[in-house]
Amino acid sequence: MMARPLYRLRLFCVSLLIAFLGALSPAHAKRTSKDSGSSTVVIDAGHGGHDRGGIPGQRIAEKDVALDVAQRLKRVLAASGYRVVMTRDSDVFIPLGTRVAIANSYSNAVFVSIHFNSAKRSGAGGIETYFYSRDSLPLASAVHYFVAGGAPSSNRNVRRRGYFVLRRTNIPAVLVECGFLTNPTEAAYAQTASYRQKLAEEIAAGLRGRNYVGGALTTTRVATGESIPLQPYIDQTKVAKSERHRSKRSHKKSARRKKKSSKPAGSEAKASSKDQEG
Ligand SMILES: [Zn+2]
Repeated sequence: MMARPLYRLRLFCVSLLIAFLGALSPAHAKRTSKDSGSSTVVIDAGHGGHDRGGIPGQRIAEKDVALDVAQRLKRVLAASGYRVVMTRDSDVFIPLGTRVAIANSYSNAVFVSIHFNSAKRSGAGGIETYFYSRDSLPLASAVHYFVAGGAPSSNRNVRRRGYFVLRRTNIPAVLVECGFLTNPTEAAYAQTASYRQKLAEEIAAGLRGRNYVGGALTTTRVATGESIPLQPYIDQTKVAKSERHRSKRSHKKSARRKKKSSKPAGSEAKASSKDQEG
């Protein structure tokens, strides 16, 4: 008696899978040796504990919605066989250095940091995905393709910026800004469980699809790493003071590099601070 509905369900699942893979792999997208690659995902829910995220006076705490999406993503990925590591799984403050150390202890993994944006201007909205190293671009492109494609928000594109967790991680690493909590429409979406579930599923689709669509996306949708200019590093809320200090002392090389790359940041920071995210 159970066999028939079960069979139908299985058939339905298989046809869904075929439809999904069909949508994912255009004729020219070919499997590469990377397909057998990392099945560990380090999920990083932004902020936590005393660090609410966002801007002062923001009604919805970024740390809460980011954690919820992260936990949903964990369940989605675990259900499809991924090993999942959370940098935080509750409302606690984890220093950025610790988050990076956790990520770097898995050599064959990818890192996804989940954030929501904020701006003084309530009209600011949209989805943006950040990467830093060239190796992270296919992952960023794929994640962004799915998240921005599935969101009602506008597309703020894939961007390159030296966020601490992107700069210091040795594995492919991306940071997704899943919409503006200061935008009434996007905040309303972010506050519904069904939308946060959708975000988690889109991020998971990007992680699964990165080896299929990454190559095609990097050349067609978001161009090459070189053509994406490095954004000024303006979000100092993501770097604790003590960490900035420590990194200066113990990593002179990268500090020098940072100094160099932050040169234009001073002048551009003011201009772009209106849509500053946290
Ligand atoms: Zn944030």
